[in-house]
Amino acid sequence: MKIDRSGEYLKFALEFNEQEKALRSMFAEWLPDDIIDCHVHVGHPQEINELIRPVYNRPFCSFLGFDLKKSCGIKDLFYPGKRLAMLRFPWPFQGVNHRGLNEYLVKECPSTDRIALCGIPTDIDYTVKLLSHPRVVALKMYYYFFVPPAREIYQFFPKLVLEVAQARVLPIILHLPGGAASCCLDQVERLVHDFPNLQVILAHLGGYMESLGNLELAYKSFAKHQNLYVDTAMVFSSQALSLAFNYFGEERILYGSDEPLDLLRVKMYEHPALGFRLMSEYPYHWIPPEEYAAYKHLARDSIHAHWQTLLAIKQAVQRLPESQREPVKKKVFFENSRKLLSFG
Ligand SMILES: [Zn+2]
Repeated sequence: MKIDRSGEYLKFALEFNEQEKALRSMFAEWLPDDIIDCHVHVGHPQEINELIRPVYNRPFCSFLGFDLKKSCGIKDLFYPGKRLAMLRFPWPFQGVNHRGLNEYLVKECPSTDRIALCGIPTDIDYTVKLLSHPRVVALKMYYYFFVPPAREIYQFFPKLVLEVAQARVLPIILHLPGGAASCCLDQVERLVHDFPNLQVILAHLGGYMESLGNLELAYKSFAKHQNLYVDTAMVFSSQALSLAFNYFGEERILYGSDEPLDLLRVKMYEHPALGFRLMSEYPYHWIPPEEYAAYKHLARDSIHAHWQTLLAIKQAVQRLPESQREPVKKKVFFENSRKLLSFG
């Protein structure tokens, strides 16, 4: 299956409503001048293959052809006046030519930015070889490389590859299988035990699609390991961020936007049977028609995910004592990524 509406999605995303224009001005004031975004997806129209249904049905397929040119073209719309650097990585799931996208990034990635290699769990030699490329500063692998998706970290991050990443001090970007932190306590414990010096960035604060109670349970277990970090990609809950500040502290939270998925206008809701889900007023292809009819009212007046993540961070920062706010912003939006990901 192919997605033929990405162009429409992008056009819709780039027409800002009044609320979004106001947020853009507000964040131009509030954000620091130097920003590193550590969670940016890169695609290219020529490197996308046929998608099978379980992949096609996921929100992450919304902007597969979003390439470097498009990304650089929208920078001033979302971060006016800022110096922005990015950690970029290819779409990691099945249906994408990962080798082609790795090559594209290595060749074309702007010099201000850094690259996380998209590793291929079924080709360890290739993955290890490319890890030594001078532009590569991190490693991304993903459970939806397999369909049905892998349930174990070591299925999509083979131990041989992790050994190399650890030895070369290349952090990995880990999406916990199933998207929920609390389901992976034992697996993360094993990972940290097996690879005590491996730096691990848990994407999406470890797993944003679950209750705060479960998230806290997971943080109690994760945060004691100093080599575990979290990024803010697609996190809309300021309470979840406050939990992350409490447990991980300001040095281990990295700003990530999830571009281009931050262009989606969505809201998160809890479906009685299916759990936490994304909904939109806009009929994206991945929303089942029945669910759309029953729940689209919950997504009324939604704004880009981009602003929702920034608002959540801002609210969590505002809860800190006033004297800490500016230094914390600098760390989360810049300094922590600069140190961990070899940015200058
Ligand atoms: Zn992402």
